[in-house]
Amino acid sequence: MTLDEEKKIAHDILTDYLSAKRMRKTPERFRLLDVIYDQQEHFSADELVLLMPSEFKVSRATVYNSLELFVECQLVVKHQFDKQHIEYEKVTSNSTHHHRICTRCGSVREFTDLKLKKAIQSRTFNAFQVTHYSLYLYGVCKKCATKYRAQKQ
Ligand SMILES: [Zn+2]
Ligand SMILES: [Zn+2]
Repeated sequence: MTLDEEKKIAHDILTDYLSAKRMRKTPERFRLLDVIYDQQEHFSADELVLLMPSEFKVSRATVYNSLELFVECQLVVKHQFDKQHIEYEKVTSNSTHHHRICTRCGSVREFTDLKLKKAIQSRTFNAFQVTHYSLYLYGVCKKCATKYRAQKQ
C-alpha cells in the first residue's frame, strides 16, 4: 500500500468516526493526521506540535485532543514506555513491530519477528478480534551497558 492510499483510508476512517460522533470535521484534524502519517517513526505530542507546518496554526490543546481522538479510532497507537515517556505512531496494515526500551536512557528501538507474528496470527481468542499488538522488552542498551562497565573500572 502506498502512503497516499494509507492516508486516504485514514481520512475515511476519521470522517466516519466524526460523523458517527457528530463532531466537527475541521481541516486541522485532517492535516494533523497527514503529518502523522508522514512520520516513519514514533513521536511525542510535543514533537508533533513542532512538525506542523507554520501556516497551520494549531494549539497544543488541539494536538493533544486530536491525538486522543486518533487513538480512539485506532488510527494511532499510544505507547506508554514508562510513566513520563509517552510516544505515538501511526497504525498501518503492515506496521506490527515490537520495542526494546532502555530503562537508563529511555531509548526505544524497534524490531520485527516473523515467528512471533505467525504464532499470534494462528491463535484465536474466542470472539476477541486482534487489531494490532506490540511487545515491550525492557533492559539496558549497549551504550548504557558500556558506560556502566567503564564507570565500574
Ligand atoms: Zn541506554
Ligand atoms: Zn514502534
